[in-house]
Amino acid sequence: MEFETRAIHEGQAPDPATGALTTPIYATSTYVQEEVGKHKGYDYSRGGNPTRTALQACLASLEGAEHGIAFSSGLGATTTLMHLFNPGDRVVLIADVYGGVYRMTSQIYEPKGYAFEYLPAEEFPNLAAHLDERTRLVWVETPSNPLLNVVDIAAAAEATHAAGAILAVDNTFASPYLQTPIALGADVVVHSTTKYLGGHSDVIGGFLATSDPTIAERLFFLQKSLGAVPGPFDAWLVLRGIKTLALRMRQHCENAGAVAAFLEQHDAAEHVYYPGLASHPGHEIAARQMRDFGGMVSFLAASEEDAHTLVARTKLWKLAESLGGVESLIEVPARMTHASTADAPFAAPPNLVRLSVGIESADDLVADLEQALVRSPARAQ
Ligand code: PLP
Repeated sequence: MEFETRAIHEGQAPDPATGALTTPIYATSTYVQEEVGKHKGYDYSRGGNPTRTALQACLASLEGAEHGIAFSSGLGATTTLMHLFNPGDRVVLIADVYGGVYRMTSQIYEPKGYAFEYLPAEEFPNLAAHLDERTRLVWVETPSNPLLNVVDIAAAAEATHAAGAILAVDNTFASPYLQTPIALGADVVVHSTTKYLGGHSDVIGGFLATSDPTIAERLFFLQKSLGAVPGPFDAWLVLRGIKTLALRMRQHCENAGAVAAFLEQHDAAEHVYYPGLASHPGHEIAARQMRDFGGMVSFLAASEEDAHTLVARTKLWKLAESLGGVESLIEVPARMTHASTADAPFAAPPNLVRLSVGIESADDLVADLEQALVRSPARAQ
């Protein structure tokens, strides 16, 4: 079945008890057993819950994965994945990784004896040279947060596997509608379902998908044992969001293309980062491995001050962290989502502005940017 059909039906047969069309929110912590150990597949909701099961089946299918494991946040998913490894193990990550992931690796796992190398996106063609026998994991965000760098997933998978490591791809920016990394060779897909999958800025959630049975078995064990599980209402919100993912992503992409084109010709934007632009260094790879170019656009204002003035002047674009919702958001990563990278060599530039382009009218979005953008007096002449 096609993506749009699976998004609505996969894992979501009518409720066997009542015929309810929509998967119920199974708000229960525990399940009654007929006799010790005799139950209908559920014994305690940290271990399993039917609403979560529906989400896991649906999203695994959309990622083209055999198994899906849901979490209470994207970082809950990341923490759980990190428990596949041990102190002494080495991890190579794309350098402009989400700030919260960097905070976790640098402030939590590094002091415990894990080793991390942060590899700039442009170095990924040489990935093999950065892997050794201690390297267990390669972690890629593509497109990346906040610089929209694009990594060739198939090439990264080949180099990673040759070194005996596994490749995890954070697919949060693309969503499975635009990109399915497992089909390109990735071992694990990571999501913050808080973003496009939930889609309405009303839930925090995370997800891991894999087709490797050994990794899946361990991750299900870790899900239950570490306990970062989503509640049934949160699982249900993500499940509901996913039903309209395809429609929303099409509009996000169309609007982002219009906004990027507008910014590229505007003299207040020094540089525009959007994989859909022919000027983007990852444009060709993105065109090959993605269905479209996504809803995220970043650009450099002329100065930090200009960036701060802009984000305070927009009316429709709301100044807020997060992304992927129906409403357009604007932020300054260096002071907001990526503040924890301030001391890293790859700290977000202070004049970088990140846009999460929503599904409002593109004309209204462009008009609001137009009235808010600061033209530097020198350049406006
Ligand atoms: N991955 C990416 C690319 C993100 O942007 C985020 C959050 O912004 C996360 C992971 C973490 O997800 P969460 O905020 O749901 O824990």
